[in-house]
Amino acid sequence: MKWNEFSEWGRKVADWAQDYHLTVGDRPVRAQTEPGEVLNALPVAPPEAPETMDKIFQDFEEIVMPGITHWQHPRFFAYFAANASPPSVLAEFLTSALAPQCMLWQTSPAATEMETRMMDWLRQSLDLPDGFAGVIQDSASSATLAAVLTMREKALDWQGNQQGLFAQKPLRIYCSSEVHTSVDRAIWVAGIGQQNLIRIPIKGDWRGMDPVALETAIKADLAAGLQPAGVILCVGGTGTGATDPIADCLDVAEKYDLYSHVDAAWAGSAMICPEYRHYWPGIERADSIVFNPHKWLGVQFDCSAHFLKAPDDLVRTLAIQPEYLKTHGKDGIINYSEWSVPLGRRFRALKIWFVLRTYGLEGLRNRLRDHINWSNSLHDRLAATADFEIVTPPMWSLWSFRYAPNGVADLDDLNLRLVNAINDDGRIYLTQTRVDGDLVIRFQAGQFETTKDDVMMAHEVITEIAKGLS
Ligand code: PLP
Repeated sequence: MKWNEFSEWGRKVADWAQDYHLTVGDRPVRAQTEPGEVLNALPVAPPEAPETMDKIFQDFEEIVMPGITHWQHPRFFAYFAANASPPSVLAEFLTSALAPQCMLWQTSPAATEMETRMMDWLRQSLDLPDGFAGVIQDSASSATLAAVLTMREKALDWQGNQQGLFAQKPLRIYCSSEVHTSVDRAIWVAGIGQQNLIRIPIKGDWRGMDPVALETAIKADLAAGLQPAGVILCVGGTGTGATDPIADCLDVAEKYDLYSHVDAAWAGSAMICPEYRHYWPGIERADSIVFNPHKWLGVQFDCSAHFLKAPDDLVRTLAIQPEYLKTHGKDGIINYSEWSVPLGRRFRALKIWFVLRTYGLEGLRNRLRDHINWSNSLHDRLAATADFEIVTPPMWSLWSFRYAPNGVADLDDLNLRLVNAINDDGRIYLTQTRVDGDLVIRFQAGQFETTKDDVMMAHEVITEIAKGLS
């Protein structure tokens, strides 16, 4: 294909995209294909001869589309939403057209300087204090890994990267049982070892870390000659929205001089609304915070906002400067690749700029407030429905329930069958989690095109399908 043929297809793709988004609600939310179906429809060998875009596009519709789960569907209530708002898609289209690799300031100054400004816009949107600097990571997992590596290096007086961990005291990192598994992976990758990730018991409705138990664990480790290195807290955990008492836990972290990282991957977006900030009092004292605009702010995947109180610690941990990556003769520049594990970087700030300007903070706040209110209405309705029990209460727009008719011995099996049957039906999409060992079904609302009717329709689907289960 030549560039002078591009716009014809660019227009067709734009029309297709608009039509797709306007009608996606008519499709089953979760892909209904069986394992191997798409794979088997694809030729086993690459083509020797060129093919036309007409044919490629036809195959895209016939082979690829049936195997797509529609994350932009208005009745996507599974996991967390991953919104691709129209301005975000346009920005990504421009980014793909420019295709810059933004590892250094000089490899696209606009990308770097826009990232600095956009991260500061996001900082202000969450009402974090002035002292935080920000970087866009590809995922919350990467931000957490970067934070764990920083914890490790600080605790080892910056010797870990050079000397490895063999001659060191075991490092200990503390979190609750509710944190995302990206924390476990970060611990593995950092060489700290799963056995040194200490799960602190939780308490209360928010299923948050018990700060007294945190201090007890730290003291026991110190007495045993181990080295506490950091605390990882969560605000809006994946399973049930678990939220640690940030201020109380940071009191302990500060007392023992431990680096703190807060994973607010999902719920961080809600902090653009002042009325939800009571969920993280003391957040301004954290060393590192991550949240994903690619979940609930309409800035499409991938875009993780990582805020740092002392970016120099992160840069000291990750920066590596061979001659070819140096920029001579320019003062005061930032090379964001020194703030993250990958060297290469996409131009992600453009879509933040497009989204924040298109909706304004008030437009975004209204969407989130609607999701939370509608989700609460559905919660109230299901709570009043015979044979259903609420397991965890709404945290923002997330709560969990069980179908528990009298006389059923294996409720885990029943609820697994229920969630599978709901997803096979295709009108809505839900996923399961475990709460205190029991299998429960999660509900969250957060898709930008969702309406109150979409949310309330979930009641009809859930109860209708539950009744049909034997
Ligand atoms: N932390 C929490 C609380 C999450 O819910 C998720 C994903 O849903 C993650 C971390 C991982 O996010 P990412 O896919 O950006 O690595």
